[in-house]
Amino acid sequence: MTLRMTMPEQVATPEPLEPLIYELSVPGRVGVNLPVCDVPAAPLPADLLRDDLKLPEVSELQVVRHYLKLSQLNHAIDKGFYPLGSCTMKYNPKLNEDMARLPGFAALHPLHDTEGAQGALALMYELQRWLGEISGFEAVSLAPAAGAQGEFAGILMIRRYHLDRGDTQRTKILVPNSAHGTNPATVTMAGFEVVELPSDERGDVDMNALKQVCREQGSSIAGMMITVPSTLGLFEEHILDVIETVHNAGGLMYMDGANMNALMGIVKPGELGFDVMHYNLHKTFSTPHGGGGPGSGPVGVNAKLKPFLPGPVVDILEEASEPDESPLYGFVMPSKSIGRLKAFQGNFGMHVRAYAYIRIYGDSGIRDVSRHAVLNANYVRARLMDTYKIPYPRYCGHEFVIEARLDGAESIHALDISKRLMDYGIHPPTNYFPLIVPEALLIEPTETETKETLDEFIDVMKKIAVEARQTPELLHTAPHHAPVKRLDEVRAAKQLVLCCAPALPGAAD
Ligand SMILES: *Cc1c(COP(=O)(O)O)cnc(C)c1O
Repeated sequence: MTLRMTMPEQVATPEPLEPLIYELSVPGRVGVNLPVCDVPAAPLPADLLRDDLKLPEVSELQVVRHYLKLSQLNHAIDKGFYPLGSCTMKYNPKLNEDMARLPGFAALHPLHDTEGAQGALALMYELQRWLGEISGFEAVSLAPAAGAQGEFAGILMIRRYHLDRGDTQRTKILVPNSAHGTNPATVTMAGFEVVELPSDERGDVDMNALKQVCREQGSSIAGMMITVPSTLGLFEEHILDVIETVHNAGGLMYMDGANMNALMGIVKPGELGFDVMHYNLHKTFSTPHGGGGPGSGPVGVNAKLKPFLPGPVVDILEEASEPDESPLYGFVMPSKSIGRLKAFQGNFGMHVRAYAYIRIYGDSGIRDVSRHAVLNANYVRARLMDTYKIPYPRYCGHEFVIEARLDGAESIHALDISKRLMDYGIHPPTNYFPLIVPEALLIEPTETETKETLDEFIDVMKKIAVEARQTPELLHTAPHHAPVKRLDEVRAAKQLVLCCAPALPGAAD
């Protein structure tokens, strides 16, 4: 059986989507069958009861269909290709889910005593070690709940490091202009000032600018945050020089590790000289993301920053007395910890999934993940090069950026191409980011896609370029089959009004 993405010859006439009906309730209809009460009935506290609690009265089948239909309104990696650059929307193996649902893990209370939670602690200890091994760092804390929180932890550690040495003059952090938005936000939230660095024509950090800033403002520089490969998908060619320059000025180096999918088993950031890095377990290590659910952004550090790690971290409290016994694991707070960032020990379910993923692949498998991710991205890039403008025409890491401007289709923008992709069942790439590329589309195919899927995506992209010139209206009015069309995306995120009633007056689409 071959499963293919839908690729309509031409989606010219919009077909209205069947509206989802929310009002399903019929008085008296029940979907549950409770057992006969076998305990004496007790009165409920009257002040907690409400008269106006209008619960829907529906059958079980109606509920199942309703939620299945709702879920089908969304795009998901389990449904189709999802080349959302910088987000590493790879397939999440179902085995990870099985492991996370094992009752011994899933039902473990976070306040369970240490002796009774040795299996979970051993898993966390091993995961800390493996993440350290993959990236070349001495110690890892699993506490942060997301990449951005890992960044925040890292910059607070850098701050604490300088203050601990009595160096109170360092108030600035360098950030290249290709950085992810969370980087300058983190710097600002941690109380530092952002010093933006330009990129050179190859997409790397402008070394002259960096050297000048370090010469002129060296004593006020606390460190630098840099993503490798950058969000242009490029491996920083002068990375050793960058690190040395900042270190010579007395600053520390933070690596945004969200793009580790390009590096695993190939480059260890700790060995390059980075002092601290965060991982996105929900990107690189295949724990589900994209729905706003729990993430995990552990931080790895070298010996300098180890005492400052956020806690708690898992350590061995007592070595095993016999060779075939296990040591006693427990939580400890590092000696000069920046403190807690998250209740209890972080998002443990994500730790289980990442552990299962690394364990299944092993070290050579992990290297293959990155090699295939890089190969897939370069394949798509090379095959789109004669159709779209690729502003940095060199080997990329796991993703690459297109400048979506087509000769002879001046009215077409990156957004139009993205929306049209939805008609073909493909999730749009990242739009208008990185900011330094006009009309940017950041494409990340990931290693989990087949060559057939990549070829179909390439064909669709080429077809859209033809449509852009011949029938631009088709792109301007896309998407034609989605439940919502073109939203005011800022308002949709910042002022989310969800309602099942007819649209509010004045509400967009
Ligand atoms: C995703 C991402 C982040 C932020 O990670 P979250 O887990 O979403 O907070 C930071 N930097 C880069 C380059 C990213 O792609």
